Amino acid sequence: MLAKELGLEELYISFNGYWPEKGAYMDTCTFKDLEAAPTIRRLLDHKVRKALVVASAGNTARAFARVCSDIGFPLILVVPVHGLDRIWMPVEKGKSIFIIGVEGDYYDAISLSEQLVAHGPFMAEGGAKNIARRDGMGTVMLDAAFTIKKLPKHYFQAIGSGTGGIAAWEASLRLISDGRFGQSLPHLHLAQNIPCAPIFNTINNENISDDCPRDMFDDVLFNRKPPLHVGGGILDALRSTGGLVYGISNKEAEIAKRLFESLEGIDIVPAAAIAVAALLKAVDTGVVSKNESVLLNITGGGEALLRRDKGIKIIEADVKVRRDEDPFSIVRMITEALGGSIFERAA
Ligand SMILES: *Cc1c(COP(=O)(O)O)cnc(C)c1O
Repeated sequence: MLAKELGLEELYISFNGYWPEKGAYMDTCTFKDLEAAPTIRRLLDHKVRKALVVASAGNTARAFARVCSDIGFPLILVVPVHGLDRIWMPVEKGKSIFIIGVEGDYYDAISLSEQLVAHGPFMAEGGAKNIARRDGMGTVMLDAAFTIKKLPKHYFQAIGSGTGGIAAWEASLRLISDGRFGQSLPHLHLAQNIPCAPIFNTINNENISDDCPRDMFDDVLFNRKPPLHVGGGILDALRSTGGLVYGISNKEAEIAKRLFESLEGIDIVPAAAIAVAALLKAVDTGVVSKNESVLLNITGGGEALLRRDKGIKIIEADVKVRRDEDPFSIVRMITEALGGSIFERAA
């Protein structure tokens, strides 16, 4: 329906979320589900005997909590206190999970998680440098190419760290070397919510306000230290694919969200609306022609539907700490709470 509205002849939507009618059953409702399972699988394959530490403001925490609850893998989540109400699941959390609410923002959560890794028998998840995470996200492109029998000409996604964009690029390179899906890399069209849009801001030489991400339509995409300049990072991915980064205002995102939801009949998360808005802009400005193939990654959706269908449970923090809390005392709390189970599972 969106395709018709935009006059696009070949629009493919990758829906990552909960939408049973379409066979979509990611019940944490975002494509972070694609990262968590392969990350844990890889740790098991490598016989890692350490608890995994994940700092997250929401979606990543949910996805790892779900997988680790299911299989009993030890997991320590470090979440800013204001993000704790985003840590919900359709099931109760497993005993192998310890949640720390930290006073402050996402950066305080990241620095505390680094301290924990430095002081305890824990391992960091790795972010964009985690190959399992990138390969998991890359399945969106693999799935699309197998479904539409070729690589799309354009790929649209909202980005925070940009890992999903890098993953789409890497997956495309593999599909090209396979030979069956064409020889051109899809152009990456990556989108952020302005004015708090570190990747867009950096590329356009803009400063970022200290107030960010206050008052943003979407705040999960706000990541102050994305892997931009690193080899194989976002700049390389953009250069290699002839890609673009879009700055989307709150207003544009709001309009895009309403349009998508009314046309397609499913709710989407604010981040996904940022990607929809970028697509609207690209069609409007002629960057994308009506007869070109487009893959739109809806990175999250169906939350409202899931709440109605299954209900959700907010998961409480096991402990709340100050940002300057002594890491040794936190490590003690964790080992006492998880006991032997920190190592049991991976053994
Ligand atoms: C994490 C996330 C993104 C952005 O992912 P990147 O890692 O920056 O590619 C987009 N949408 C949603 C819903 C997310 O949770």
